[in-house]
Order: sequence, then structure tokens, then C-alpha cells
Amino acid sequence: MQLRFVGCGDAFGSGGRLNTCLHVTGERVNFLIDCGASTLPALKRLGIARENIDLILITHFHGDHFAGLPFLLLDAQFSRRTRPLVIAGPEGIEMRLTQVMEALFENSSKTKQRFELSIVALSPQETRNFGAVKVTPFPVVHGDSGGPFLAYRVEAEGRVIAYSADTEWTETLIPLARDADLFIAEAYTYDKAVKNHLSLKTLETHLAEINPKRLILTHMSDDMLGRLDALSHTAASDGMMIEI
Ligand SMILES: [Zn+2]
Ligand SMILES: [Zn+2]
Repeated sequence: MQLRFVGCGDAFGSGGRLNTCLHVTGERVNFLIDCGASTLPALKRLGIARENIDLILITHFHGDHFAGLPFLLLDAQFSRRTRPLVIAGPEGIEMRLTQVMEALFENSSKTKQRFELSIVALSPQETRNFGAVKVTPFPVVHGDSGGPFLAYRVEAEGRVIAYSADTEWTETLIPLARDADLFIAEAYTYDKAVKNHLSLKTLETHLAEINPKRLILTHMSDDMLGRLDALSHTAASDGMMIEI
């Protein structure tokens, strides 16, 4: 399997980085995790075929993880997509998607897609299978608006990918990512405590217990981006592709 960081930035374009979107492909899977506002141009820049994506998992409803969907759905319609598409995310996703479609492109939520579109609400700790992708959501802690907030443990093709989403430290990150082949973790700041977000220093105090086989840091603020050369961990960059 391959995972590509289509975008790994925060909400404010720190370091000129694009909003969060991860693209996972394998022999039997092709899906996105998160779809931030900049996702469509980022996918096009990387030459990623949108029509082959079967599933989009959304962690929460902040614009840097969610606001790319109206652009993607309109693009799918205009490019005459025929393949079914599943969009899955926290409770309330159907209403939130309608709202963001209407806010950005009036009446667009009323258009009947040429392709089969399924919107699926996920609940914490309830594992769901989407084709060959097994998804277990874990509740995380990220403030009062834009939730519910889910992190995902995804199993596919014999590998486990865990993604923290945006969160402050919470004990659910341990079962989320324990022994995972790849743990993609937010490291918003280096050691500064910021409400609703995770610092690298806090994450490090729990890494032994989580024991991921591989760790990649993402969603970094300018504070972290200024320290990349001195870090002993791998940090994501836009367009970066890894084998899992
Ligand atoms: Zn974010
Ligand atoms: Zn967020």
C-alpha cells in the first residue's frame, strides 16, 4: 500500500502547506482521509485520478479537513463520474455537508448526482467495513465547535494506519495507534501547550506505550516547522509518498 500526503498543513497555511488530505492506495483500496479546502487543486497537481477514489473518511468539520468536499463533488459531477462514492464521518455529516455545499455553491446540495453517493455517519468504537477497508473511529478532544471529533484506525491489505486527526492529548490515542504500522500524529507545537492541539513533547511522553512501527508528524504550526531540521522524527510534507 502507498500513502501520499496530498496536504499536511494546518488551518492557516503555515509554511505554505496545503490543508489536510491523505490518499491511500493499494491493490484493492483507494481512499482519502480528510478533504480540506485545498484538496481538489492538490489532487490535480499530483495527477491523482479522482474518479478512482471509492471512500472519503472525514475526521471533523473544520474547513481544513472538510471544506474540500463541495469542490470534489461538483468536479465529480462535471467530469461525469460514474463510480459510486462513500463519504463517512462523524454524526451529523449529512447536515454539515448540505450546509457547506449551500454556503459555497448555492443550490448545489439539491443536484442529483449521476453517480451513487452514500453519506455514512460513524460512531466512536464501532468498526465498519467499506470494501476492503476496515475503519475503527476513536473519539478525540478538539474543542467545542466543528465536532464530533474522530481519529481513525484503518486496517487494509494486512496493514494498520492510525491517524490522530486534530486533538489535544487523550488516552484514546493509545488504543488508536498501538502497534500500528504507521501512526500519523498531529504535532502542532513543539512543547508549548495549546488548547485543543497536541505538542510533540506531550506525544513523546506516550510513544513507548503506543509503540507504533513508524511515526510521521503532521499538521504543524510555524513553531514546529522552524525546528524540522533538528527533529529526530519524520515529518510529513505535501506530496510525500510512503510505502506501508
Ligand atoms: Zn486542522
Ligand atoms: Zn480542527
